Amino acid sequence: MSSPTEWSPSLWKNYFERLLEQELDHGDEWTLGFNYKQTDQLTMGERKIGWKVAKQCAYGGFRCGHCSNTWWSAKVTLVFRYRLRQAAEKGTVNMRPFGQSCRSCHEHQDVFYMAGFSEDEVDRTLLQLFKKIRKNCYGEEQDGSDVATVCDIVRKTKPHKKELCEACHQGICCLEE
Ligand SMILES: [Zn+2]
Ligand SMILES: [Zn+2]
Repeated sequence: MSSPTEWSPSLWKNYFERLLEQELDHGDEWTLGFNYKQTDQLTMGERKIGWKVAKQCAYGGFRCGHCSNTWWSAKVTLVFRYRLRQAAEKGTVNMRPFGQSCRSCHEHQDVFYMAGFSEDEVDRTLLQLFKKIRKNCYGEEQDGSDVATVCDIVRKTKPHKKELCEACHQGICCLEE
């Protein structure tokens, strides 16, 4: 099954809001935003005020804006930063999807494109994230029943090429976990 190849923040926002009620029902108001510059490194100051990081791999589809080549990768790195402000009863999640360049024409142009994700993939990824939030912000015990990770799902994608991966360039690819 193919997945969309167009980055869609609104799809992520919709699923985030839809899943909140069942997955994070602690009465705090959580919101999802996007930060296309953030890394998985937190400063001491950020840690102190409660920021945490989750790095995940997801399966996404890409389309080159130059030659229209399309490709799929199970190693699309996503970096989430999240923070609960208990007194304000507000939680914030910032997401950054890392891009990949086109293997047919990256020598002519050094551009990282962003991936599109299927609804199932967004759902699976956010369930994983909410599980981490429940554990790290609310101290919930994990029940052992794991959400399937990308590694459990057999996907036919070409071998990961470091030179085409934006996260590899920054040394924070999900492959390195
Ligand atoms: Zn191309
Ligand atoms: Zn990589």
